[in-house]
Amino acid sequence: MSEIRYDRLSDTHVIIAPERLHRPDFMTVETPIIEKAICPFCEGNEFMTPKEILAMRKPDTIANQKGWQTRVVPNLYKAVAIETPHAHHDGNFEYWEGFGAHEVIIDTPRHSVSMGEWSHEEMVLWLKTLRARVGDLRRDRRIVFISLFKNEGYDAGSTMSHCHTQLIGLPMIPKTERSLYRQKRQYFEDNHHALMEAIVRAEEESGVRMIERSGEFSAFCPYASSYPFEVMISSQQCVGQIDTLRDNHIDDLALLLYRVIEKFQKELGRFSFNLSVSTPPLSDDSYGGEAHRLMIRIIPRIYRYGGFEVSTHMMINPVAPEVAAKRLRGEIND
Ligand SMILES: [Zn+2]
Repeated sequence: MSEIRYDRLSDTHVIIAPERLHRPDFMTVETPIIEKAICPFCEGNEFMTPKEILAMRKPDTIANQKGWQTRVVPNLYKAVAIETPHAHHDGNFEYWEGFGAHEVIIDTPRHSVSMGEWSHEEMVLWLKTLRARVGDLRRDRRIVFISLFKNEGYDAGSTMSHCHTQLIGLPMIPKTERSLYRQKRQYFEDNHHALMEAIVRAEEESGVRMIERSGEFSAFCPYASSYPFEVMISSQQCVGQIDTLRDNHIDDLALLLYRVIEKFQKELGRFSFNLSVSTPPLSDDSYGGEAHRLMIRIIPRIYRYGGFEVSTHMMINPVAPEVAAKRLRGEIND
C-alpha cells in the first residue's frame, strides 16, 4: 500500500508507491516492444486488464469485450488506490494513506500508434473520455485534485508502447499546483480578469511565440518556457475546464492538437513528450471558474537535466521560445 508523505523542509509531498516497482520495464533502458498478442491494451485482450470503468463503444457492443474506441481501466501498477482509507495522519512524520484514483485511459484500440497518427475523430473521442472521467470524479468529495497526463516515448517515462493516458486523483493538492492557482486567484482579485486571458492576449498581440489558432484556442511557446519546444494551449475566453467543455470547443481543441503535433513531427521527427491537461483543484470555483482557463502543456523530452535542475528546480532551457515557435511555424528550415 502506498503513502503520500509530507516533506516538512520543502512543503512538498511525495508518493511512496512500492507497487510501481512491479511495472514491466522497471530499470530497463528503453520502452519494451510488446507484441499485439500479449498487449493488455489491445482490442481482443480485454480480459488482461481489470474491468473497465468507462468505454466509448460502437453501438451494440458489450462492456469488457471488443468494439471500444477508448477504454478506461484502473491502473494495475497504481500509485494510489480508491479502496485505501481516506485518512490523514499528523505529527513529525505526517502522511496521507495512499488514497486516490489511478486510472489508465487506453486512447485507441490501435497498437503502437503515436498521438501524431491519430485521426481527428480519435482526438475528439479521447477528449470526450477525459471530460467524462473528470466529470465523474468531481462528484467524489474526497478527491481534491486531478492530474491528467500522457507520457509518449521512453524518454518521457512511458512503459507501454500502446498509446495511453493516465489520471491520478489525490486527497491533497501538490505544491506547484497550489501556488499556480493561488497566483491566478490573486491576479483575478486585483485585476478583475484572468491571468491566462492576459497572457494569451499578449502572446496573440505579439505573435512572436504564436504557433496556431483554432476557435477560441491558441497554441504558443510560453515566454519563460522551462523546456525546449514547450507548447501551451489556452484561451482568452472562459470555455470551462476539461469536464465542462462543449462539443464545439472539443472539436476546435482536437483540431489544434492535431495541427500542433503535426508541426512537432515535422520539426522533431517521432519524439518523446509529456502532455498534461491542467485541472484546477476541484474545490476551487474561484469567481465561478472565471479566474481559470483550460490549459494544456506539451513538453518534448529532448534534453536531459543535471544536478542544477534537480537541486534547484530551476530549469536551464537551451532553446529560446521565440526560436522554437519560429521553427514550429516552419519558418526556419536548416
Ligand atoms: Zn496494444
